[in-house]
Amino acid sequence: MNQPAAKLAQIPSVDRVLNLPEVRLLLEAHGHEPVTSAVRTVLAELRQGKATRPLAEAVSDRVRAQARPRLRRVFNLTGTVLHTNLGRAVLPREAVEAAVAAMTAPCALEYDVEAGGRGDRDDVVEGLLCELTGAEAATVVNNNAAAVFLLLNTLAQRKEVIVSRGELIEIGGAFRMPDIMARAGAKLVEIGTTNRTHLQDYESAIGKKTALLMKVHCSNYAVTGFTKAVAEMDIAEAAHAKQLPFAVDLGSGTLVDLSRFGLPKEPTPADSIAAGADLVTFSGDKLLGGPQAGILVGKVELIRRIKKNPLKRALRVGKITLAALEAVLRLYRDPDRLPQRLTTLRLLTRSHADMSKQAERLVGRLRAVLEPEYPVEIVELMSQIGSGSLPVERLPSVGFAIRPLLKGGARMKRLEAAFRSLPVPVLGYVRDGALHLDLRCLDAEDEKAFADQLKDLSC
Ligand SMILES: *Cc1c(COP(=O)(O)O)cnc(C)c1O
Repeated sequence: MNQPAAKLAQIPSVDRVLNLPEVRLLLEAHGHEPVTSAVRTVLAELRQGKATRPLAEAVSDRVRAQARPRLRRVFNLTGTVLHTNLGRAVLPREAVEAAVAAMTAPCALEYDVEAGGRGDRDDVVEGLLCELTGAEAATVVNNNAAAVFLLLNTLAQRKEVIVSRGELIEIGGAFRMPDIMARAGAKLVEIGTTNRTHLQDYESAIGKKTALLMKVHCSNYAVTGFTKAVAEMDIAEAAHAKQLPFAVDLGSGTLVDLSRFGLPKEPTPADSIAAGADLVTFSGDKLLGGPQAGILVGKVELIRRIKKNPLKRALRVGKITLAALEAVLRLYRDPDRLPQRLTTLRLLTRSHADMSKQAERLVGRLRAVLEPEYPVEIVELMSQIGSGSLPVERLPSVGFAIRPLLKGGARMKRLEAAFRSLPVPVLGYVRDGALHLDLRCLDAEDEKAFADQLKDLSC
């Protein structure tokens, strides 16, 4: 007589399990379908001899796991503030409130309330963008890759675009300038060399088929040593001498000079416009600190042509994005208070003393759960801005190094996995045999939630 067959008789019916008191509570909270489906799965496991836990517990775990959103919140202790894999900029409260308002009631997205007629969705942010960049006109699309694509497709289809070899960038996630050009139907004309490009290179490349001169900001790398790049003002002049437009892809667009907050200077769209650029493109969710978006600012006539491209309709943004973007742009009108109000800037400007104190407050909690097997040290770290913003700059920061006493990759994997298995997963990085947790992005209001869940850590 075989063992599984003997057990089969003891397997309860679906209805019996649904009547267990704990399972009835689940039914109330989650509804009939998800709970019944979980019960069937658990009973099937039991029949195959896989289940060892009490039935109600197994059902409950399954129902809860399936009810949990896939897009989960995490603690970003990677030291990279604008982490593309973790959603880049965290939006300020003002933007969140505006987005919620736009989602929960009808709004004047394409309606001119004063005139009482149809409006254009770009009007929501165009005035602010012009004020903040000095440009004549502006439009917004899904992301900066879309902005660059739309610009090239509108102005340079079946024509040539002149770009320096030192600027043919690849941004993580398959944004390669030469590929975007090809897909947009533009022919790339590379000039100069990897490290040096001269004004003469631009001038002599201009021909009958030239549509555009373009400069691409080296977001995620730096060319150093024996280098030469031509100033925007000079490229603009060379382009305008031949009645050609000059476009700049800035990548990360910050609307204020960050050096006023003690951060390294990053070029602004206003700088490029002042230098004579006819179009500038940048991201909404990099240093700008807003929602994912691609922003194009520049000459009225060029923006008008871009907006008439049928692809604009395919790449446009929704009301949630526009509401959040408008709220973020408004914060820039009062730059003095920006570091308190704009989350990205608040994180980037956190003081060393602030992070040190936070480390002192938290180190005991970590030691209590990790030592002696995993000694915890407070260490000086270097954060980076991320998302191809200010690539070579590092910001001094403070955090923890957790180094397993017993060496070996398996130990480290278990430690990392333990932090990832917390209710709100904690993500750090491994370097030199230690798990590092950089505190820069642990905002004051999240500290308690972070500390409270440490008691669940098991490794
Ligand atoms: C980041 C970046 C892009 C792509 O922007 P997304 O908003 O991620 O689409 C394009 N060009 C440059 C120079 C960048 O830094």
